[in-house]
Amino acid sequence: MAKKKYIEEPAAKPAGGLFSYAPAPESPAAAGDIATSYGHFIGGQFVDSSGSEALKTVNPATEQVLAEFAQGTDEDVDRAVAAARKAFADWSALPGSERAKYLFRIARIIQERARELAVLESMDNGKPIRETRDFDIPTVAAWFFYYAGWADKLDYAGFGANPRPLGVAGQVIPWNFPLMMLAWKIAPALATGNTVVLKPAETTPLTALRFAEICRQAGLPKGVVNIVTGDGRTGAALTAHPDVNKVAFTGSTPVGRAIAKQLAGSRKKLSLELGGKAANIVFDDAPIDQAVEGIVNGIFFNQGHVCCAGSRLLVQESVQDEVLDALKRRMATLRVGDPLDKNTDIGAINSAAQLARITELTDAGEAEGADRWSPECELPGTGFWFKPTLFTGVSQAHRIAQEEIFGPVLSVLTFRTPEEAVQKANNTPYGLSAGVWTEKGSRILWMANRLKAGVVWANTFNKFDPTSPFGGYKESGYGREGGRHGLESYLNVEARDV
Ligand code: NAD
Repeated sequence: MAKKKYIEEPAAKPAGGLFSYAPAPESPAAAGDIATSYGHFIGGQFVDSSGSEALKTVNPATEQVLAEFAQGTDEDVDRAVAAARKAFADWSALPGSERAKYLFRIARIIQERARELAVLESMDNGKPIRETRDFDIPTVAAWFFYYAGWADKLDYAGFGANPRPLGVAGQVIPWNFPLMMLAWKIAPALATGNTVVLKPAETTPLTALRFAEICRQAGLPKGVVNIVTGDGRTGAALTAHPDVNKVAFTGSTPVGRAIAKQLAGSRKKLSLELGGKAANIVFDDAPIDQAVEGIVNGIFFNQGHVCCAGSRLLVQESVQDEVLDALKRRMATLRVGDPLDKNTDIGAINSAAQLARITELTDAGEAEGADRWSPECELPGTGFWFKPTLFTGVSQAHRIAQEEIFGPVLSVLTFRTPEEAVQKANNTPYGLSAGVWTEKGSRILWMANRLKAGVVWANTFNKFDPTSPFGGYKESGYGREGGRHGLESYLNVEARDV
């Protein structure tokens, strides 16, 4: 008699590993009411634009229009800056402990409304709900809590007694972490006594407009935070405005360069957080399984739409085969699809334009002779999608080794000695971040001293903490956000008139 089999072997391995997953969709209704059209938030009120041009924001996973919003005119920007200027006198005169109360209140409301914000962000941006729920929104709240704590301790921040705010801050942010970039800009600005006009990116305005509601809910005095929507034209009007004292920009290097030129000779203080092409460096003594997790997190987190993404893997030649085999096995388990499904690892590419940029650069990688590999995975029929992609046989001169792809695409290079790793890692115009995987502490310090990057992670990657400064080197920009250093961008530390 045949022996009874208690555990049935599956006939075929389901995609994504031994076990298949039942869909676990989050409800779009949790995002709350999305209006059909939005104006700006100026002086504590939602107001219409002075112009008639409207833009549309679409859900990149479905291509459905979520809402229309205003293309901010020069006049709109002028009104917003005037509202911020008017509010500045009272806001900057408040004791730090009073400003802190508002920031703590905002942080707590963000926590209370976390699910709503996470779903709205996933719908507007395309990123997986697992990330907005577990990373973006908790980080946003943490940033407000952290800078709330600084508001009454500025005398002890190392910038002399009674450091003064700058005035009105004009802030322009990108689409890859919409609410998180807003928090990185607004929390330190308010804690230090500045007022702000912020322009969100044109493909992701919705969570900034929802944040405006949160400012009202927190009872924030009118005009302390103003949100003006629109594309680069609105951004340029804001950064050029003569009554703005401080410009904070996060976005691409070409636009950062244009803003630096625009502001040259003015008295405005400028901080720039720009692009990157980080090296994630794996030595032969690294714990390979952990390193593979770090490589995956480094480049596939947020669809690779991360300025500090580990988009160049530098692997020591002796472990190349082992690392690449393990990496391919791991990549085959990544689940690409509906951002609102809690099982999804890789969501939608933010826009058709970004998908076209990724496609163009990866085609160039193949044309220049690199070997392309992606796991088998089915992509949804509508929306903007890109398979997780690996390029081997990459030379330093290839465009995919030099240019920021800003998508789920990893270029693999090899090295033999630590010196060669440093030389290759630094062979880029950028210098935002880097990762080092090795069990030797001395080697981590040796590498960190030589890598031209604002942030160096050791045996981890893409770790963000409000207490830690973040920022660039070379063409990745200047100025720091986060930590005590992040206060300096919003304080008059040179005791000059602004
Ligand atoms: P982008 O530079 O095209 O746009 C960023 C923002 O600038 C948007 O709000 C846009 O409307 C605005 N803008 C465009 N032209 C402008 C102008 N002339 N004057 C003023 N504002 C203008 O970049 P993007 O495509 O939205 O974002 C992707 C880029 O941002 C990537 O290069 C990425 O590396 C970078 N980024 C950097 C960081 C960082 O912290 N260093 C963080 C996120 C994104």
